[in-house]
Amino acid sequence: MQLTTTRNKELKAKPDPQKLGFGTLFTDHMFNMDYHPDKGWHNPRIEPYTPFTMDPSTMVLHYGQGVFEGLKAYRTGDGHIQLFRPQANFKRMNYSCHKLCIPAFDEAMALDALKQLVHLEKEWVPNAPGTSLYIRPTIVATDPFLGVRASHTYRFFIILSPVGAYYPEGFNPIKILVTREFVRAVRGGLGDTKTLGNYAASLLAGEMAHKEGYTQVLWLDGVEQKYVEEVGSMNILFVIDGELVTPMLNGSILPGITRDSALALARRWEMPVSERKISIDEVYEAHRAGRLTEIFGSGTAAVISPVGTLKYEDQVITIGDGHAGPVAQKLFDAIMDIQYGKAEDPLGWVEPVV
Ligand SMILES: *Cc1c(COP(=O)(O)O)cnc(C)c1O
Repeated sequence: MQLTTTRNKELKAKPDPQKLGFGTLFTDHMFNMDYHPDKGWHNPRIEPYTPFTMDPSTMVLHYGQGVFEGLKAYRTGDGHIQLFRPQANFKRMNYSCHKLCIPAFDEAMALDALKQLVHLEKEWVPNAPGTSLYIRPTIVATDPFLGVRASHTYRFFIILSPVGAYYPEGFNPIKILVTREFVRAVRGGLGDTKTLGNYAASLLAGEMAHKEGYTQVLWLDGVEQKYVEEVGSMNILFVIDGELVTPMLNGSILPGITRDSALALARRWEMPVSERKISIDEVYEAHRAGRLTEIFGSGTAAVISPVGTLKYEDQVITIGDGHAGPVAQKLFDAIMDIQYGKAEDPLGWVEPVV
């Protein structure tokens, strides 16, 4: 399959790297590729970033048959551009496709296309500390049809957005609300995929948490509402008696690449690590006994996000002293240093672009 490139004749002005937010600005080009049952995935192309026109009956608009990914390109101190574990993102995307009845794509080809796109847009990778180019690969069902079935045709696209540092004011702990009223995913459902509806399903709980002054929701399992699952767009990790504990991947938790990276580094440092069921009662008991020293989230956007306050029913607990704990800090620094090329890459996670 030959990738074609059509250059945009009107390039936008680049934003001030000190003033970047998240997800509002997009670069001059995007990747597009189509699927048709007779042709398979075909016509991969880099072309000017433009709006889609869609028939109002387009299936994804009605039944949510779509998947996405989120990763970043980083500029190193000496001006190179690199990706962090992009193979893992495309692998997970194909797994999401499988669960959503979307035909699989060639992961090596998608990575090659992404590298060519980022290469073309290299001036858009910002250079201020902590900034990056956010990458959003997406696949959506495109049949114009109102019956409920898997679509026959699809569009795969990748867009790029320069984003600011997640912690412009420092690495500050967030407040998390544990919800029992809502669940995010159930056994046998789509919780382990990055599919559109999961995020729609999380909005009401998120809004209710915001009204109470909390940043995010911590979801419990959808069957017993007893075991900790994850935080909306982040996995969750605990330090209990010096051990790094995180919920095991049980089919309803998103298998985060940052989670996997944190566990791999901790094991390399010979820190005890356990992936297992952890109930919310155990978290509170460990806190009462003084054995719970840290809670933090992990995800591409923030890397590591320390949790300073947790509320479950009427019990509010404070973790740490208002600062990130030592394990959160060490993981944050280690992962960021690899992503920005400041440290060795002992596990072969970095994929150079330029
Ligand atoms: C994307 C995501 C994560 C984090 O995954 P990373 O690969 O680390 O970015 C965690 N939970 C959910 C629900 C997500 O969508």
